[in-house]
Amino acid sequence: MVLGIHHVTAIASHPQPNVDFYSGILGLRLVKQTVNFDDPGVYHLYYGDGIGSPGTLITFFPYNDILPGQRGTGETTSLTFQVPKGSLDWWCTHLSLHGVPNGIETIFGKQVVWLMDHDKMRIELEEAEHDSKLIEWKDAIIPSDKAIRKIGRVTLAPNDHGGIGEFKTTEQALVGMLGAVKVGEEGNRQRFRLGDSYVDVVRQEGLLRAKASAGTIHHVAFSNATQEVQEDWLLKLTNAGFHCSPVTERDYFKSIYFREPGGVLFEFATVGPGFQLDEDESTLGTHLKLPDKYEALRQQIGALLPTLNLKFPAVTI
Ligand code: ZN
Repeated sequence: MVLGIHHVTAIASHPQPNVDFYSGILGLRLVKQTVNFDDPGVYHLYYGDGIGSPGTLITFFPYNDILPGQRGTGETTSLTFQVPKGSLDWWCTHLSLHGVPNGIETIFGKQVVWLMDHDKMRIELEEAEHDSKLIEWKDAIIPSDKAIRKIGRVTLAPNDHGGIGEFKTTEQALVGMLGAVKVGEEGNRQRFRLGDSYVDVVRQEGLLRAKASAGTIHHVAFSNATQEVQEDWLLKLTNAGFHCSPVTERDYFKSIYFREPGGVLFEFATVGPGFQLDEDESTLGTHLKLPDKYEALRQQIGALLPTLNLKFPAVTI
């Protein structure tokens, strides 16, 4: 069983504007500063709630001096954060005061606030159906009755190219392989429930293939309850014809990666062990943490990475 969204990972330009936006404006907690395990000269920044709970996490690889990417097919085109009921107007005011482009759309009869981050990546905010309690932390800048709760939904733009095994399309794989349930269709948008999250599939005439770079989403990860569940999935996906990575150690979770028939990169990530593996709850995200294999290179790696300012004033509107 897939439990819902675990995290979304995207590519950004410079790291400080990334922290300024996600911690300083959206008010997420930076819960881990580490490096790209496959490219240790680049940060891997994790943002989430007070403890980095699965489902609240958005993570970035911020590369200095890279070109903007291009949204398109074969990728996740946006992610949607859930915010408390009645807070959308507050968010529009807050975003506008910070010069963040934003507006309101109606999707499936619900108001959705769209906004663009500093790299023009599309983010959406919508009201949570059932408000979940926020895991708070000291120095949070957004009042808790307005703060982002979790990622409720992602939107995919498939690049249809023949399918994988018996699954010809993203929709077939979501339902037939991952166990998602179709819950709606409106124009060119179909909506599926997967665990406690939603996945929208949108086919847009004339949309070109995505170019991965700053401002684009690299992959979406869904939660596996345990490592055993993940190993079962690896077998099941491989037998169905999906090209799956071996189980990969990410320290804070274990992962497998595969592309769905529409070309979007999916990850399955274990719920544990989580971000308190190497830092206390009170100091999460305050120091550079390296996987064991890079610890001997700490000085050289540290010299490549800019020091980040993590302090932001509380929002008082
Ligand atoms: Zn990931």
